[in-house]
Amino acid sequence: MEPVIGLEVHLALNTKSKMFCACRADTFGLAPNSSTCPVCLGLPGSLPTINRKAVEKALRFSLALHCQVPETTQFHRKNYYYPDAPKNYQISQYDRPLGAGGFLELTSGRRIGITRCHLEEDAGRLVHPAYADYSLVDLNRAGAALIELVTEPDLRTPEEAREFLVRVQAIAQAVEVSDANPEEGKMRADVNISLRRPSEPLGTKVEVKNLNSFKSVQRSLEYEIKRQRRLLEGGGRISQDTLGWDEGGQKTFLLRTKEETADYRYFPEPDLPPLQIDSTWLSQVQKAMPELPEAKRQRYGALGVRDYDASIIAYDVALANFFDAAAAQARNPQAIANWLNGDISGWLNAHNLTISATALTPALLTELVALVDDGTISGKTAKELLPEVMQGAAPSRLVEARGLKQVSDSAEISALVEAVIANNSAIVATIKTNPKAVNALLGQVLRESRGKANPELVRALLNSKLGLG
Ligand code: ADP
Ligand code: MG
Ligand code: ZN
Repeated sequence: MEPVIGLEVHLALNTKSKMFCACRADTFGLAPNSSTCPVCLGLPGSLPTINRKAVEKALRFSLALHCQVPETTQFHRKNYYYPDAPKNYQISQYDRPLGAGGFLELTSGRRIGITRCHLEEDAGRLVHPAYADYSLVDLNRAGAALIELVTEPDLRTPEEAREFLVRVQAIAQAVEVSDANPEEGKMRADVNISLRRPSEPLGTKVEVKNLNSFKSVQRSLEYEIKRQRRLLEGGGRISQDTLGWDEGGQKTFLLRTKEETADYRYFPEPDLPPLQIDSTWLSQVQKAMPELPEAKRQRYGALGVRDYDASIIAYDVALANFFDAAAAQARNPQAIANWLNGDISGWLNAHNLTISATALTPALLTELVALVDDGTISGKTAKELLPEVMQGAAPSRLVEARGLKQVSDSAEISALVEAVIANNSAIVATIKTNPKAVNALLGQVLRESRGKANPELVRALLNSKLGLG
């Protein structure tokens, strides 16, 4: 049976003010309820006004996902009762969203349909003090602008779902609409998942709500696929439930069944007239569109970077900015890409850092690559220097101070090669029948030079002195 997955993703817009009032939107670290006003507190008589910047950002994001933008969009009230929603409704969008019918392409070339992309306001937050028999309400986040995007049920594996989210994040950051940072709650996802036999109609789905990391999206999908498969293969039926994800237990749990699903009684927001999006405005937004990751990937390809590397770098905004600065000075962009996707990303993972949080600069990396390219140091030496270069040390200084320059003086190496040949007659004797044995000699010469002999030169000298091809 094949998994069928659809995602609903919320992105917190990085606007200065909230969606329908002038309150500061980024309230991280502020005292509770300090960024509020009658509008976002839902006081009677207050009136919302549409944040033009938020609409522009949502338009830009919709266009980046190839959505159609209608001439008129409309806000609706989604009615529900919960202590974090002071108005007892959320202003959202319903049948006239700001974008619809787009797609996002995965590395495989598969296009995942974007059903819709709309604007809405965020809710506040409940705070549960330890051991208290009450909860507190913080409305700083209430009324902040969100984009919600909904996909078609086009995803087929947890890995695809993860890649989709990585790409959404990269696009949101590249077009500067959201920090899209799950750790800070700036990107949250609900996953919908069902199983079916290929080419049969869709099966009954469940929805897992409010996942705040890419890892929990992947894990919860893996968990549900196993659970649903076991149930269906045992002759059972899936009930269309809304689930939560238990991070500690790494399992889903029931939040509510379909029978309890709320009827939101959507109706057009009476305090906001339909919003016209004329073609002049839309083309201005299109013109101001920053370079998209997909365009970056193609540009890197044209520089001679392998597609695999180009794709990874282009879909990571921090890496892409770094690569652009380094490649501008480098003779060999592929070498820069190799470092970024190889040893540097290993170092970053081990230290749990992003590249912008390190002392590594594009100039330092370019310098390191040039030292290898012109034969001053071996690739091995360069790798050994990396941890210090990551902390801001200039590679050429390290090479100078430690005498790490590769020896390419053939007289010096020649003497070393001859000594190694003379001292290893047993190995030399086997080389006729086993040409690979020459590598043992090569290794020994490199060791005795303490890694400074140029390996290519050593191999050439060994071959000529031993009369090998
Ligand atoms: P609901 O009415 O439960 O909100 P929607 O039709 O609005 O369902 O779809 C919500 C999300 O669920 C979308 O991302 C959609 O692609 C996905 N979805 C719909 N049906 C299925 C299914 N049978 N299996 C997996 N995902 C589905
Ligand atoms: Mg829905
Ligand atoms: Zn406000």
